[in-house]
Amino acid sequence: MKRLVIILALVLSFMFAASIASAGKIEDVKAKGVLTCGVKDSVNLFGFIDADSKELVGFDIDICKYIASKLGVKTEFKVVTSKNRIPMLVQGSVDMVAATMTHKFSRDEQIDFSITYFMDGQKILVKKGSGIASAADLANKKVGTVKGSTSEKNIKNAQPKAHVISYDEYPQAFMALKQGKVKAVTTDSGILAGLKAGDDNPEKWEIAGEFIASEPYGLGLPQNDSAFRDFVNKCLNEMWLDGTYQKLFKKWMGYDLPEGWTIELWPM
Ligand code: GLU
Repeated sequence: MKRLVIILALVLSFMFAASIASAGKIEDVKAKGVLTCGVKDSVNLFGFIDADSKELVGFDIDICKYIASKLGVKTEFKVVTSKNRIPMLVQGSVDMVAATMTHKFSRDEQIDFSITYFMDGQKILVKKGSGIASAADLANKKVGTVKGSTSEKNIKNAQPKAHVISYDEYPQAFMALKQGKVKAVTTDSGILAGLKAGDDNPEKWEIAGEFIASEPYGLGLPQNDSAFRDFVNKCLNEMWLDGTYQKLFKKWMGYDLPEGWTIELWPM
């Protein structure tokens, strides 16, 4: 009898655990009352620490807050790097990633993505007057970028003769440029604009050349949770339709949305 009770208890606890595991992210997040977002903390304009308030702010941060508000929960932030953001989502340490992340099919094998919520492309940042005008001029030169980024791969394709040095975060690559350890930093133009704008002498630096690659950003979402993915996509649509998206774009980028650019709008 005692054995039977133990077996029954075990079966019930397995069933309970399985039901928790299979509960979708929406129920999960609502139950804990908080949406945990993986964000950057050193990418000016997108996810960075405000010098005065010491709070995490930026375009990606505001996107997370909007989605959390639609779920009726608070937002919690965990800092991610380009290298660990997908593993952190896969392990469940974060519910969502909003971290200047390009959606691409190879990444889609491990996680899912929202619709494109920001459109950018890769460029290079150089010292003004350096004579480097494009990736073609980077043959046999050192170029800084970040581990785990698309930028790392794209520059190798665009200029196979460049010596690519990968850092953990973009400010370190920019520091290397300032110290003359690399001749250029390469990544998405918005991130480069943020590095330049955040410098004491922005006029010393220029974003050069044509786009090396196109970089459409998607929010990183858990694999195979279509209810959550649909919800997030609907939030992005609502954000556009209620004008929040346009306001946030202007607030962080400092200019109006480029003419003709729109997120993918689905009829309601
Ligand atoms: N958007 C690119 C990527 O997802 C570069 C920026 C970044 O490292 O987050 O890899």
